[in-house]
Amino acid sequence: MLQPGLMMDRPLLISDVIEHAAAQFGDVQVVSRETHGPLFRYSYAQCAARARKLANALKHMGLTAGSAVGSIAWNNHRHLEAYYAVSGSGMVIHTCNPRLHPQQLIYIINHAEDSVMLFDSTFAPLVKGIAQHCPKVKAWVCLSDAANMPTVEGVANVLCYEDLIAPHSEQFDWPQFDERTGAALCYTSGTTGNPKGALYSHRAIVLNAMAGCMPGVVSLSPKDTVLPVVPMFHINAWCIPYAAPIAGAKLVLPGPRLDGASLYELMETERVTVSAGVPTIWLALMQHVEQHGLRFSTMRRTAVGGSAMPAALIARFADEYDVEVRHGWGMTETTAVATMSSLAPKHMELSAAERHAVIAKQGKSVFGVEIKVVDDNGATLPRDGVSQGELLVRGQWIVTGYYKGETSPLVDGWFPTGDIATIDAQGVMQIRDRAKDVIKTGGEWISSIDLESAAIAHPAVAMAAVIGVKHPKWDERPLMFIVRKPGQALEREEILAFLTERVAKWWVPDDVIFLDALPVGGTGKVQKGDLRKQYGGVFS
Ligand code: AMP
Repeated sequence: MLQPGLMMDRPLLISDVIEHAAAQFGDVQVVSRETHGPLFRYSYAQCAARARKLANALKHMGLTAGSAVGSIAWNNHRHLEAYYAVSGSGMVIHTCNPRLHPQQLIYIINHAEDSVMLFDSTFAPLVKGIAQHCPKVKAWVCLSDAANMPTVEGVANVLCYEDLIAPHSEQFDWPQFDERTGAALCYTSGTTGNPKGALYSHRAIVLNAMAGCMPGVVSLSPKDTVLPVVPMFHINAWCIPYAAPIAGAKLVLPGPRLDGASLYELMETERVTVSAGVPTIWLALMQHVEQHGLRFSTMRRTAVGGSAMPAALIARFADEYDVEVRHGWGMTETTAVATMSSLAPKHMELSAAERHAVIAKQGKSVFGVEIKVVDDNGATLPRDGVSQGELLVRGQWIVTGYYKGETSPLVDGWFPTGDIATIDAQGVMQIRDRAKDVIKTGGEWISSIDLESAAIAHPAVAMAAVIGVKHPKWDERPLMFIVRKPGQALEREEILAFLTERVAKWWVPDDVIFLDALPVGGTGKVQKGDLRKQYGGVFS
């Protein structure tokens, strides 16, 4: 007969994360860029005290367990306090992506039944436009002090965050409840149909945040200062706002300033050791650093994900700046990171270029997550690094369904990701493409990711994107978009010749269009849908 273990059964709750930080790392700093410009600085102990004040304020407003509180906000200290106050009270923090179409924002606010909305003053015009369509929201709270409040004409019940929490006590008894309770809600970006909500539990978030601290994942300890550039409005900023307090790492929040110059300055002045963000952010940072001949004096690691990190950029970070790239994969439905690239001692014998190629893959599943790839009939494909099919995932922090969704997306207990991948004998996963981005030509597949990574290796290329365009003979053919680095005179023939040396002949794009910028969405990903809409008919 099975023996019950004689261990306490304490729930994994988000309130315990901030209380742990307040008690064990009470003097460790949180630094935050205010929306109106200056840096704000306080400690985890003060952060916890203000989170308790906010929890009291929400209770005073009549919110109860299960209520949803929305946010349209940057990465800053007030948003961080809301992460803890709302979830810690048994309510759900619904982080909204401000770059969603206003109609979609209205849809998700109503669908989530947000009863209070928190917003940064940047988004006051947005709030003005949507408020009248969100009848369940009883207060719009601007994450600001009284001196920096925007005017939001025509919106009833706009409150100032600092005024709201000021009268309340720093004492609050965090309720105890089941760790499987919903804590945070994030909607997919919904390129087709309405956005769908992933409702993360306390357990999923805490387990993921603990995994993120591990040396082979993001790796955080009290020696670190971590700068999450990845937004708190999308997939919990990869759970770094929870992982940093668990690890006792100093947390630096960049607010609205995400350009290369501002990020570099923040990294230097706050002595950041670890950062996290999408490749487009690092492309901009690298351009700034290269243009001005700068060095990173403390930054040693950067976690990258959200889209594929090209090997050429990994090489620039590693070879020229001694910054190690940790390349991970995850999606809205996986709470945060699910797989992570890693180097083992055996890789040290390889050339630098070969090592970068290892990192350019999305890596092994983190403990707590399992992955497999399947063919069109759902049969599991061999782990041979070649057989490609849809990536399926299951584990401790993977969704079982969507918020208020009627049908389960799961297939035999696995979540189908819509990504096409290979897995090798050592468990290393490589994303070949998003199923909808893969270019099907003459019965074969071309990976848009591989073509983009090859183009980025050209020294005159700042950004590259490839889409499949309808073709009368081949079904689809690749069309490439290039953004040149400033002052560079790259032309079509030169980039095509460059690619011909690096990819199979039939992969070489049929045409190249030079643009000043690529359409980039709120989460920093290139919006291929927009490119398809505009250029999809080019070869017909
Ligand atoms: P989202 O849910 O909006 O965060 O998008 C998740 C999708 O981003 C995944 O399904 C992948 O298609 C893509 N993605 C995330 N990380 C990576 C990565 N490291 N390499 C390639 N694609 C990625």
